[in-house]
Amino acid sequence: MELVTGEAAVPRREEARHCAWCGRRLPDSGRIGRPRRYCAQPCRQRAYERRAAVQRGGLPEDAVVLSSGELADLQDRLFQVRCAAEDVATAAADGAGRAELRRLAEELVEAARSLERLR
Ligand SMILES: [Zn+2]
Repeated sequence: MELVTGEAAVPRREEARHCAWCGRRLPDSGRIGRPRRYCAQPCRQRAYERRAAVQRGGLPEDAVVLSSGELADLQDRLFQVRCAAEDVATAAADGAGRAELRRLAEELVEAARSLERLR
């Protein structure tokens, strides 16, 4: 069986769902054409500047570079998610009631949501 090659072989890019700079969720645009990669112009600009800096440094273009401040902020939010998850586990082990478990679970969801933002 022969493989058919041609323009159909170029895969369509899947629509990005998160801003390629800050990681915030992008709204579903529903429009035809090139899917947006950034939530706003400042994110587009900062991504361009970082890309140029990365290229000057000889790193691959798709390298993800976080400043030490951005990394510290991300680590803080990761720590908050772990603490929130441990609170749920501890409460469940201690036989906490539904209302308490629900409150702790909502805190865990909120903490996890904050991780969608990379920077
Ligand atoms: Zn953004």
